Amino acid sequence: MRKRIYLSPPNMGGQEREYVKEAFDQNWIAPLGPNVDGFEEDICNFTGAKSCSVLSSGTAAIHLALILSGVGRGDEVLVSTFTFSATVNPIIYVGATPIFIESEAETWNICPDTLRSTVKDRIAKGRKPKALVLVHLYGMPAKMDEIISICQEFEIELIEDAAEALGSRYKNKFLGTFGRFGVYSFNGNKIITTSGGGALVSQNKADIVEAINLATQARDKALHYEHSKIGYNYRMSNIVAGVGRGQMVVLKKRVEEKRSINNQYRELFKNSEMISILKEPNGDYYSNYWLTTIVLEKGGQLLRNNVINALESQNIESRPLWKPMHLQPIFKQFPYYGNKFSEQLFQNGLCIPSGTDMPSNTLEEIAALIKKAL
Ligand SMILES: *Cc1c(COP(=O)(O)O)cnc(C)c1O
Repeated sequence: MRKRIYLSPPNMGGQEREYVKEAFDQNWIAPLGPNVDGFEEDICNFTGAKSCSVLSSGTAAIHLALILSGVGRGDEVLVSTFTFSATVNPIIYVGATPIFIESEAETWNICPDTLRSTVKDRIAKGRKPKALVLVHLYGMPAKMDEIISICQEFEIELIEDAAEALGSRYKNKFLGTFGRFGVYSFNGNKIITTSGGGALVSQNKADIVEAINLATQARDKALHYEHSKIGYNYRMSNIVAGVGRGQMVVLKKRVEEKRSINNQYRELFKNSEMISILKEPNGDYYSNYWLTTIVLEKGGQLLRNNVINALESQNIESRPLWKPMHLQPIFKQFPYYGNKFSEQLFQNGLCIPSGTDMPSNTLEEIAALIKKAL
């Protein structure tokens, strides 16, 4: 059997070892040190974010963003239903209620019309939402102009979950830098990885100072250990940050490679009427195409699973699109607004291998297997 082809495996650039070795040589084996500072600086320089703190995960970053937005017990938080559960779990951690919002067809992200009518409905019920956790799914930018103007009009804090969208841009501005907070993830399958980790960015330096304090057990200024807040142990270690610094060197290249993979699939499927591939609505949108996704036009779960099994038989990984959160057993008691568009995507869509170090001809082989299965 050939070596397994994964959806999006880690791809080291080469300099990671140098930074990690330096950390060992200087005995910086702690959740602070030159790699932590350097990685944060690199992220700010790349994205244009004013301030950054690197953390143990993207989930931790969402959690801190919610706390710093003042979200707490009994509050409501608007959130994309078409996402990974890690977007929603921190809303529960802080004791708030998620309000799920459906996506639109052009970007698969939150539908601005549904967002607006939801906000109005919650206000009419006397429950004005405190924050919006907006996801840029699979790297595709959401409809930022419309969404930002709704957040401004109703004074709702915007937290961007750009865990899948590092390097993506909207009108030339990097995702994660539009809201009060932006979140990135460096988990093993993301566009760059530190094996596990995340980052919180903000345009407001004081927010990040506070985030770092919360992430390191919330110590007050004193010689001894004094605490007037509940803290967390969420800081990234200097070893892990060394991997991150090395990965930042190749981030731009990885984005270009992912975009090229997406383009090649598009070419390979261009005459297949059964298959559609999501594309950027217009020149304002620049996706990192973290994962290439396809939708089977006349599909259904059975056909989708046939395709997945056909690839699996050749040791190739593929996966259904995210199952919407409003259908998840753990979240189904929470309010949901929309036309169930994401349920169709879940039935008919799948993610196909998008690794940046696939052997040559793998894309052709995958396309042929999919066409045959259909
Ligand atoms: C990966 C991911 C997260 C969580 O990031 P971790 O670093 O794994 O905690 C959050 N939201 C989305 C959309 C993700 O894909």
